[in-house]
Amino acid sequence: MLLYDSFFKPRKLPTWWTRFTESNPAVPTIVAVTGLVLICFSLASIISTSEHNGHGQVIETFGSVSKSKPFVERAMNLRAAYHKLFPAEVRNFLFNLYGNIALYLIVPFLMLLEFMFPCNPSQPLIGKGFLQDAIWYVVDTPLCIVILYPVIGFLRGLFIQHMGFLTIDSAASWPAIIQILAALLLPALSRAKEQAKRTQLERIAAQYNLKKFTLTKEILIEQGVMNHSKPVLTLNPGFPFNDDRALSVYIHEQGHWLLGEHQNEMRGLYQDLTRTFPGMPANYPEGSGSIQDSYFHLAVIGLEWNGLEEVVGEQRARTVLEFLSTQWYTVLYKTVLENRQRVNDILQRHGLRW
Ligand SMILES: [Zn+2]
Repeated sequence: MLLYDSFFKPRKLPTWWTRFTESNPAVPTIVAVTGLVLICFSLASIISTSEHNGHGQVIETFGSVSKSKPFVERAMNLRAAYHKLFPAEVRNFLFNLYGNIALYLIVPFLMLLEFMFPCNPSQPLIGKGFLQDAIWYVVDTPLCIVILYPVIGFLRGLFIQHMGFLTIDSAASWPAIIQILAALLLPALSRAKEQAKRTQLERIAAQYNLKKFTLTKEILIEQGVMNHSKPVLTLNPGFPFNDDRALSVYIHEQGHWLLGEHQNEMRGLYQDLTRTFPGMPANYPEGSGSIQDSYFHLAVIGLEWNGLEEVVGEQRARTVLEFLSTQWYTVLYKTVLENRQRVNDILQRHGLRW
């Protein structure tokens, strides 16, 4: 009851103490600074021993606080069980929130300060706001795990499968300040890249006659998307300095539109392709996302190659296709590269040509 009162009721401090602190206003400051310095020193020693012995921070903290060997052994058994029960991601969440040793030293110390030197004694030590914050703090992690974790997992999977090309792999190793600057400059940069792509397409269109490869004239350029043909042909600003590759991507996406104009042939085309090339992959990057889409892509890639070759010549077209076969739809590009005649025969059988 006494404990409850001192936490949740207005504080009653002895009159001599109140008088003492009022006449010596430096005392709270001295106590606060000394306490925090002591905590910092003890934290440093805990952290350095934990790195030294390598049993993990929590175990070492128990060890250096309790100085008891059996206790450490028991803690290690508990840890082994804990590691078996929970996956690393869950443990990371928990550790980030509850594993911080500063929390167990600094927060109680701050509360002790507030108790000894109340700003307003009529206020309870633990008020409504504090209690709500504390509850939220404790509940936050389980909530993250239960609600956010599956969502994060889903989004991460989506990103890896379909938007991995947005990642700049080397960025993780850049200094933090460069990463922040890059994030701030990225929108401006992507606008500049979109403009560069527009200029490139205009240049290509002026240089070559693309009329027969242009089934749709409505073309969007958008940073961060995957090149796609429907509902509106949309290109990302990839290959801004390599006209041959950019042209190949352009003809590829128009190739989807060519297929779209032969709806009646699709069933026969699909049967033809599956019979000729059994075992094509579904998943990106070997395939294009689904088994059916992968098979139709064999035809699109065949059209892409034929179109590109007509515009830039045999050698340059082959160079581009070989490069693309290392970028995406890898197995599909390789299959077409190795079986050109068979792919062309199928295209011809179904009347698919530019
Ligand atoms: Zn495609």
